[in-house]
Amino acid sequence: MDVSIVIPLFNEDESLTELSAWIERVVNAHQLSYEIIMIDDGSTDNSWEVIEKLRANNSNIKGIKFQRNYGKSAALNEGFKAAQGQVIITMDADMQDSPDEIPELRKMILEGNYDIVSGWKKKRYDNAFTKNLPSKLFNAAARKMSGIKLNDFNCGLKAYKYKVVKSIEVYGEMHRYVPVLAKWAGFRKVGEKVVEHRARKYGVTKFGWDRFINGFLDLMSIFFVGKFGKRPMHFFGLWGTVSFMFGLLVFIYLTISKFFFDVTGMTQRPLFFFAILAMIIGTQLFLSGFIGELIARNSPERNHYLIEQKLGL
Ligand code: UDP
Ligand code: MG
Repeated sequence: MDVSIVIPLFNEDESLTELSAWIERVVNAHQLSYEIIMIDDGSTDNSWEVIEKLRANNSNIKGIKFQRNYGKSAALNEGFKAAQGQVIITMDADMQDSPDEIPELRKMILEGNYDIVSGWKKKRYDNAFTKNLPSKLFNAAARKMSGIKLNDFNCGLKAYKYKVVKSIEVYGEMHRYVPVLAKWAGFRKVGEKVVEHRARKYGVTKFGWDRFINGFLDLMSIFFVGKFGKRPMHFFGLWGTVSFMFGLLVFIYLTISKFFFDVTGMTQRPLFFFAILAMIIGTQLFLSGFIGELIARNSPERNHYLIEQKLGL
């Protein structure tokens, strides 16, 4: 199979028919063998009925229906597991991404020998203040932390080699950082293609202000798990020692002052306690977060999503 198109969707019944017709038009024009995998992420509208109807007319359309809403990352993860194409293309369901980009993206993977090609919404049709500006900041932070030179990490339109999607797990809200996950899995050739972005035609955005908080926390954990997940001692051991040595030196200093120079009142300064408290709480929080992350990754339940129904898979 030439190409799998993976579409996570949540309450997008108005777009699906138009979107799949457009995709069919493009792949047929380029004579590509294909499948469209639509993952219904617990929609409460008629999305699943629409998918069933589409499948009845075209057996290249496949569906996975979650029992409840797990989020875009979970939907992508299941789509990746099911995908059989030589190239896998992910796309949002809201028609903000243009299916016309499919052949070119596929070509870049096959001929440019890229592991991933990420879309870049150079010209965006979203709210400038709530989306475009924060997204610039995010991309700058993600670039810095991951060392991957992408302008637009969060673009829904991306193309992958088969092997890449079978090597990574997308969970939490990691859909924003799939190129980073791929990099940690050893796929380094990441390309970028300027893609056409369109205004949302139907429905409303599914991500509110909490995208920023979750996005930031996920960036942190991706960074730490990727870098230190297999060798936590190199991080915690180092900084634990540094912090302990610092405490020890202060303690020695206080002891010497007290016994040899008879200085009193060292521990009376509020700042002294504040610094100690902040350090202890900070270390504790960080450590718990990290351990939690490690446990979550090793739990057999971590990617267990309840699937109500499958079509064609
Ligand atoms: N989506 C999903 N599960 C969710 C939220 C969103 O599958 O819990 C899908 C949504 O239907 C769309 C894509 O993820 O196909 C991108 O969402 P949206 O267009 O709302 O995000 P935005 O373009 O505003 O960043
Ligand atoms: Mg959108």
